[in-house]
Amino acid sequence: MYRFSRSIYRELAPEILEDRPGRAGPGNHERVLRACEAAVYRLGTDWHYFAKPTKTLFNDIRVYFPMSSQERVYRVVDRYMCFAKDYFANLPLSGYDVEGNRIECRATTRRGTRCQRSPLPQNGYCPSHQHLAEPQELTLAA
Ligand SMILES: [Zn+2]
Repeated sequence: MYRFSRSIYRELAPEILEDRPGRAGPGNHERVLRACEAAVYRLGTDWHYFAKPTKTLFNDIRVYFPMSSQERVYRVVDRYMCFAKDYFANLPLSGYDVEGNRIECRATTRRGTRCQRSPLPQNGYCPSHQHLAEPQELTLAA
């Protein structure tokens, strides 16, 4: 799954600002790479609840780029986050997420346990829990 974060990093690496001398901790390159990995990981494990992946990652890394690169950084981030989201959104077809965990319906039953039926890929709810999906997701599923 990290091919997405590595691709983002590779495209943006030449434009990352140089580290300020004397600053402790990881350098800018490492911070950008870590932020990309964290965003892709979150998208891969929890994309239903990750509302604005592009904006989130862009806000995390923009400080490491010069003003003149901001627009390009945004475009690159958006392109790969859209790829990644499409990719992860289609994984439920296999029944397992990127971590190898079995994917189950997002709903909680009346007894408070997780519904264990297989979800539909469009919204993560099984056929009996489709009414819980966001209206926007229902339209997409229709
Ligand atoms: Zn269900």
